[in-house]
Amino acid sequence: MTDYSGATWVGSPNYTPGRAQPVQYIALHVMAGYLAGTDATFGRAGGASSTYGVGAVGTVHQYVSEADTAWADGNGSYGNSASISIEHEGGITGAVNTDACVAASARLCADIARRYGWTRLEHGKNVRLHREIYPYSHPACPDKCPNPLRWQEIIAQANNILATGSPDYTEGNLYDMVAAIIQPNDESRLVYWDGAHIHNLSHPDEVTAIKDAYKKATGTDIAVFKLGSKTAPWATRLFSAMKRIS
Ligand SMILES: [Zn+2]
Repeated sequence: MTDYSGATWVGSPNYTPGRAQPVQYIALHVMAGYLAGTDATFGRAGGASSTYGVGAVGTVHQYVSEADTAWADGNGSYGNSASISIEHEGGITGAVNTDACVAASARLCADIARRYGWTRLEHGKNVRLHREIYPYSHPACPDKCPNPLRWQEIIAQANNILATGSPDYTEGNLYDMVAAIIQPNDESRLVYWDGAHIHNLSHPDEVTAIKDAYKKATGTDIAVFKLGSKTAPWATRLFSAMKRIS
């Protein structure tokens, strides 16, 4: 019986019944290979396991019940018994961490968060990377390798699902969707509005850097538009309103 309705039960003999402590975080891994190989590895007794595995087309397999302790994150005081571990296809040349895998993992992470009462996922708190977990025996997992796990996108999409019900920025999530690059009042300059503050952009490279960073963090393009004119200075109105609330 899967804990997540979008998962298929595969099972593994490699786990400890029950948990020594409550679930406190999601541990993100990359398979350094493919879902089929992970199914086979975790199916052999005496090896490792994880709670879930996500494949390149978005297939989610569950190997160990969330009520039990998978063998993925070491046996430190904050290791296996505190984590729900998720493996992802990728991590070697030829095995790509695909958009479908990222999207499926985000849906899974959001479902886990809801069930454990987490309103938001935060790296370093309720999301950790394998290489950050004692005894630090897997320094390449999940992102210091070829075709690394796009874990920032997974967290961003999961947080949008938690905030709006949708993985993207097209509805509801005001703080994120208002970020924009604005040309104010027909002036020959651009500013970056991060949703709360205005930042002057003094060089075209800064515009490019903001666009690239936004795209990497959210998977979508930042809005770029003119606001106001010399006779109707709506950008000035926005900026002064921002000053009052920030
Ligand atoms: Zn790992």
